[in-house]
Amino acid sequence: MAGQVFAYIKHANGKAEDSSLELVAAAKKLGAEATAIVVGTNLDALCNEIAASYKSVWKIDNASLAYPNAEVIRKLLVKILPADAMVLIPHDTFGMDLSPGLSIKIDSPFLADVIDFAVEGNTLVAVRQEFAGQAHTHVACDIANGVIINARPGAFAPDESKSAGGQVTDKSGEAAGLDVNRKFLELVAAEAGDVDITKSDVLVSVGRGIEEEDNIGIAQELADALGAVVSCSRPIVDAKWLEKSRQVGTSGQTVKPKVYMAMGISGSFQHLGGIKGNPFIVAVNKNPKAPIFQVADVGIEANILEFMPALTEKIKSL
Ligand SMILES: Cc1cc2nc3c(=O)[nH]c(=O)nc-3n(C[C@H](O)[C@H](O)[C@H](O)COP(=O)(O)OP(=O)(O)OC[C@H]3O[C@@H](n4cnc5c(N)ncnc54)[C@H](O)[C@@H]3O)c2cc1C
Repeated sequence: MAGQVFAYIKHANGKAEDSSLELVAAAKKLGAEATAIVVGTNLDALCNEIAASYKSVWKIDNASLAYPNAEVIRKLLVKILPADAMVLIPHDTFGMDLSPGLSIKIDSPFLADVIDFAVEGNTLVAVRQEFAGQAHTHVACDIANGVIINARPGAFAPDESKSAGGQVTDKSGEAAGLDVNRKFLELVAAEAGDVDITKSDVLVSVGRGIEEEDNIGIAQELADALGAVVSCSRPIVDAKWLEKSRQVGTSGQTVKPKVYMAMGISGSFQHLGGIKGNPFIVAVNKNPKAPIFQVADVGIEANILEFMPALTEKIKSL
C-alpha cells in the first residue's frame, strides 16, 4: 500500500461542498484516514467543520488563494504533498483543470471520473463509465508511488458520521511566494431565471424524450397538478425550449428535491451529478436499458407523451 491519503476540499461562501463528505467514504476504500486540504481565505470556521469528518486538516490561508485558481493550487500541492501521496479530488471543472498537470508534476498515475474502486496490495482497480453510462470499464494502475483520483460527485455515499474530532494544522506559510501566470478577474453570477428549481420539493424534469417544444406544456400541466416545478436536461436548454436556470446537472443547477421525476431523460452522469440529497426518483423512459433506471426508485417503461397526461388526469381526479 502506498503513502498518505489526502482529500481536496471544495468550498464556496464558507461552506464545504457535498463532495467533502463523499471523499471521506472514498478514503476509507483506500484503507486509510485522509488528511483534508483546505485552501482559500478566512478558513477557520470551515476547517473546524471539516475536522468533524477528518482526523487531520491542513489549512492553507493566503490572499493568492481567495479564488480557486488551479494553476496556483497545483504549485502549492506540488510543494506540500509527499512523493507517494494518494490524492482524492472531486471530478468537476476545477478538478479536471487541476489534476492532469498535478499528476505529471508529481509523477503519479491519474484516474479521471472514478465512480468506484477497490485496492489490493499496490494495485487499484477503478470503475469508470463509458458510452453515457451504458458500459462500465475497469482500469487498473500501480499505486506504489501514489495516485491522483478524480471522484465523480455523487458516486460515493457521503460519510455523515462526523465523529473524527480532528486537528487543524496551519500550513499557510507554504503558500508564500507562489508565482502565478493565470490571474483571477471577476466572478460572473449566473443569470437569475424565472423560477428557482433548487427550492422545489418536487421536480418534473424533462429530457430529449419530450421530442418537441410544444410538448413542454404536457410536463407543465403535470407539474401544476402536483404543485411541482418543471426542470430539464441540457439538450432542452440547448434547443432554447426552457431557460438555462431550469437545467439540472454539472453545468446547470444542483437540486435537492424530495421527489425527482425524470421524464424521457437517459441519466447521463452530467445530469445525475446535479441531483443531490438522495431524492425519491421516478423515471419514465421508453428504453428499458436507459441508465436512469439504475438509480431510479421507481422505473416505468412508457412513452412520456402518453404517460404524463394520464398521470395528470389521475391526480386531478383524486
Ligand atoms: C461538459 C458537459 C457538461 C454537461 N452538463 C450537463 C448538465 O448539466 N445537464 C445535463 O442534463 N446534461 C449535461 N450534459 C449533456 C449530457 O452528457 C447528456 O447529453 C444529456 O444529459 C442527455 O440529455 P437527455 O437525457 O435529455 O437526452 P438523451 O440522452 O438523448 O436521452 C433521451 C431519453 O429519452 C428517452 N425517450 C425518447 N423518447 C421518449 C418518449 N417518447 N417517452 C419516454 N422516453 C423517451 C430515450 O430512450 C432516452 O433515454 C453535459 C455534457 C458535457 C460534455
